[in-house]
Amino acid sequence: MKTIGTFAETRALVSGRIGLVPTMGFLHEGHVSLIEHARSMCDTLVASLYVNPTQFDESTDFDRYPRDLDRDSAIAAAAGVDILFAPDDEEMYPTPLLTQVHVPALADRMEGVHRSGHFAGVATVVAKLLAGIKPDVALFGRKDAQQLAVVTTMAADLSFPVDIVGGSIVRERDGLALSSRNIFIEDRTAALTLHVGLMAAADAFEQGVIDGAELESVVVDSLGDVELEYVELADARTTERLVTLDRPAFIAIAARIGGVRLIDNVYFTGTPLVADRGNRLGAESMLYDEGDS
Ligand code: AMP
Repeated sequence: MKTIGTFAETRALVSGRIGLVPTMGFLHEGHVSLIEHARSMCDTLVASLYVNPTQFDESTDFDRYPRDLDRDSAIAAAAGVDILFAPDDEEMYPTPLLTQVHVPALADRMEGVHRSGHFAGVATVVAKLLAGIKPDVALFGRKDAQQLAVVTTMAADLSFPVDIVGGSIVRERDGLALSSRNIFIEDRTAALTLHVGLMAAADAFEQGVIDGAELESVVVDSLGDVELEYVELADARTTERLVTLDRPAFIAIAARIGGVRLIDNVYFTGTPLVADRGNRLGAESMLYDEGDS
């Protein structure tokens, strides 16, 4: 694996069908599952590692976001990445950014309500990665289901010749959705109730409940000591709030537990619709490996 800091050098090295997995680093098994999935779909696999300042609405969150290039390089290489694209700010934003990509119809709800400007930052940086690396396929996790919808629509609307592919959520062995921010969680019992609520809603759906408000209240009723931001049943493609779960959709939740903001969801897809509850690890996550945090 080569670690490279510029678009030009990356483009000079890739060949055949190119796969891209964008990340902000501090890699865990959720990232690794996307990398392994991408590996089977391409000849040259690029993972990008960039903590993108323009998608953070809170400077404290940006400042304390975990960063460890040596750790990430070892994980990416072992997972099968050919090129780790790790640009600096100068490469990503050489001049003040005067252009923004925004998908308001999909972005201005749920996360967009609580994280002002977040998706403009995401859509813009992903557009830059697609333009600069020119992948044939790019993978994103269902963990960020609204982001997956925004990126899919953005790439289609701007005619990027790329397939956007989603991957299932990877969960820790107790069910908590993996996130690089999990290392900061203090009240794990409270954090776990997000997952418990979503699984209860998946159970209710499997028992025949398709009313959106009822499914949302099943999630809310399971929550412990968390500061809830939203629970919403949303159309998987348009992110519009759904009255009835009768098409591909996800029930998304965002909440703060202590100082840590977490998001999670359960995704419903296929014909007939089936709940994608994610995949649980059988052992403790690499997030907690000694010397890595
Ligand atoms: P991040 O580094 O958090 O920006 O995530 C990079 C990519 O990994 C995004 O497409 C995320 O949706 C995806 N991802 C993050 N956590 C998980 C997870 N637990 N399971 C699956 N994909 C994930």
